[in-house]
Formats: sequence, C-alpha cells, structure tokens
Amino acid sequence: MTESGITFYLWLLVAVAAGWLLARYSIKPARRSRRTTSDIYHDYFVGLNYLLRDEPDEAVDTFIRGLEVNGDTFETHLALGTLLRRRGKVDKAITVHQDLLARSGLPSEFGDSVRLELSNDYIAAGLLDRAERLLKELLSDDNPSRWDALAQLVTVYQIEKEWAQAIEMVDQLIQNSRYRREKTLRSVAAHYCCELAEQSLASDNLDQTREYLRKAFQYDRGSARTSMLIAGVELKSGNPERARKELLRVAYSHPKLITEVIPALRKSYLTQADDKRIVEWKKTLTKLLNDHPGSTLLLELVQLVREQEGEAAAEQRLAEGLQQHPSLKACQAMLQLQLDNFSGESRRFLKISVETLQNYLESKPGYRCEQCGFETRKLYWQCPSCQKWDQLNPIRGAEGD
Ligand SMILES: [Zn+2]
Repeated sequence: MTESGITFYLWLLVAVAAGWLLARYSIKPARRSRRTTSDIYHDYFVGLNYLLRDEPDEAVDTFIRGLEVNGDTFETHLALGTLLRRRGKVDKAITVHQDLLARSGLPSEFGDSVRLELSNDYIAAGLLDRAERLLKELLSDDNPSRWDALAQLVTVYQIEKEWAQAIEMVDQLIQNSRYRREKTLRSVAAHYCCELAEQSLASDNLDQTREYLRKAFQYDRGSARTSMLIAGVELKSGNPERARKELLRVAYSHPKLITEVIPALRKSYLTQADDKRIVEWKKTLTKLLNDHPGSTLLLELVQLVREQEGEAAAEQRLAEGLQQHPSLKACQAMLQLQLDNFSGESRRFLKISVETLQNYLESKPGYRCEQCGFETRKLYWQCPSCQKWDQLNPIRGAEGD
C-alpha cells in the first residue's frame, strides 16, 4: 500500500472509530439490548484486523455491518458506500446506499444525500435510467440538492449522447451563480451544441447549424471547435473571408490545433484563383511556421513554393525547415523530392526507403490525450478513454508534427 493509501485508511479508521463511539453512546436502551457492547467491540477489532492485514474492502464490509445507522453515524455509512464505489465495488455501494435510503425516520436532507450518492453508483454501473429517475426526484425548486442533481444529470445525458437534454440541464444549472462562470461547464456545453451542429451540417441544414453554433459561442466565445465548424459552414456557403477569419482565430489562439485548420485555411485563401490571395496565404504560412515550427506547416509551405517557384526552391525551403525543426515527415518528403534525380537500382532503393518511412509514420498515433495518455490516429474532441473534453492534441516531436 502506498503512503497516501496508508494515510487514507488511518483517517478512515479514525472516522469509523469516532462514528462507532458516537453510536455506542447514543444507542437507546431498547437498541442496546439487540447489540451488546461486546458485539460492537468484536466487530470493531475484526475490522481493525482487516485494515492491518491490508484488506480494506473486508474492513469496510465489517464496519458497515457493525455500525448502527442513526443520525450520528449516517455520514460515515454514506462515506463508506462511496468508498466502495471508488474502489470499483459498485454493486456493494448500491446495496449500502439502497439500504440507507430504505431506512425510515431519517431527516429528508439525509435522504437527498443518499439519492445523490446512489445515482452516482448507478452511473458508475451504467444504470443510467435509474440514475435519471432518482435525480429527477430532487429537482423541485426549493430543494438545496437540486443543483447537484442537475450537475449529475448533465453527466447522465452526456453519456447517453442526449445533447439537447444535456444543454437543457446546463441552462438550468447556470442560473445558479456558483455554476454561471464555471469555465469547464460552459466549454462542455459549447461542445454539446457543436455535436448537434455537426448532425445538422451532415444533413445540409445550414440555418439550423448556424443556430446551434451561435448558442455554442454564447457558452464559450473561445471555442475552437465552434470556430472550425463556422468556417466549414461559411466555406459551404461561399463566404471564404468569414471562414478565414474564424480559422485564423483558431490558429493564433489555439496553436496546438494549427494542423487541424490548415486544409480549410488553404481552401479559404485559394478558392478564388487570385494572385493576391496566394501571396497572403504564403505570408500567413510563413508567419505561422516561424511562430510554431512543425512538419505540417513546413510541408504545406514547401508545396506552395514548389507550385510557385519550382523544385529547386522547394528543396531549398525544405532543407532549411528540416534543419530548424527535424522530423521524420520532412525527411520522408525530402527523399521523395530526390526520387526523380535517381534511376535504376539507386532509385529502387530510395523508393523502398521512402515507402518504409511512410509505413512507419502511418503506424504511429497522431494524437495523445493530455489527461490519460490515450493515443489515436484521429482527433476526438472528447477522449474515448477518460471522457474529458479538449484533451487530445497532435503529438509533436521528430516522429510527430
Ligand atoms: Zn483521456
């Protein structure tokens, strides 16, 4: 057991001991006849032995069995149930919390605390319908637990991908000043709107898409995903200038996402065959590359130089970029450019090298979650592993961008 684990269980021991003593001295005579002092001490020392043998689950079970439930020990029971859930014993946590809820005579605020914990158990067990039903019981206007219930309902609807309902819960939640300025909640709500916007965009309903995106910006004006979707809508609608404005906003304020906006940004500059726009595009690429060196930007610039100034200029630019920011992608591009300078066996060997490098690069993940380390080749706004939003970023370095 780690040092923090030992500290945790020592605190648990202190908490349970305190609850135990409270129970001991608050037992009414009628109850005392059912459980004697000797019973209580026996259970206490059995639980203690489990703790000393590093078997905390058995210790928790023993304490729960031995500890009388009353107003003084209620919180301890609630916490023990929660501890079971956190240790992955969700079924046991449900049993403990259901048992508490079934007790009559406890004050109503205790009942609400149990409902909140039990709904968390249900969420952990994937029993979302049950969690939803239980939480809805807490939504009356005068119930102090209403806000916690709303926050949990956001989680339920997010897991179910019921984005509209999740947004409805957020709208109620931000009426409370405690949640109104909570950045994470607002950022997540913007993502819910973006999910709906993507569905509308897929069915070419641009007006509805715009409406969802307008709402997304109300939650989070800095949402990169919203800007990127707006750019997509504007490009579809033949407004490259508006699209460019949004994409440049992402490129400058979310540099980690530069690689994601490059194709649309290129389109926004080059849809009109206009020399002035090509010069602007080159200037933008050069500035972005100077500020944030990376192989995607470099190769984009090299491609433009190649089209505008020819092979030799492209090779020169690529060589400079490769020296400033070494990467396998740029190496592979350099070898590819050299292919035409070779023939016969030399060309064949060089081609094998290019293909080997390409296969290797294609086998590598392109994104990593900053929260849990999950790696993938595709960008997800919500990490499929830890479920956190905005945590996947392009992998940088010699084997990445
Ligand atoms: Zn993650």
